[in-house]
Amino acid sequence: MSFYTYYQNNSGGSFQVDHASGVSQYVIIEAEWAELADERANDIGLYFDSSIDCSCCGGRWGAAWEDDAEDEPLIYGEPATSGGNRLGGWVTGPDTYIHYADGRITSVTYSREGTATSVYYDSPVDLATNFEEN
Ligand SMILES: [Zn+2]
Repeated sequence: MSFYTYYQNNSGGSFQVDHASGVSQYVIIEAEWAELADERANDIGLYFDSSIDCSCCGGRWGAAWEDDAEDEPLIYGEPATSGGNRLGGWVTGPDTYIHYADGRITSVTYSREGTATSVYYDSPVDLATNFEEN
């Protein structure tokens, strides 16, 4: 099994966020190979048809490549569940969802300084309820 990270481009100036499905700025999917990761990505709402995105900004999501396979969930080469070279706060609620092959989902929220402020295992639906009431 490997982990494939999908980096969302805020095409048109906004992000596609769906906390109930585990979609935010970063989506990481564990799968046996890239095509299977893409299928799971499609199931939760990611798409790879850039023709529906803003033409100047480019496609929102890019399909996984086999070369993208990692042994652990990474964002720009850093563990997704700890601090790293990324900034949070662009979306309301968790910035990252990690979808494990066994169905578990982990969400991670980062601070503006790029450190992980909270990591929750399982149950993104509960998180969605909490965040949408804010
Ligand atoms: Zn644009």
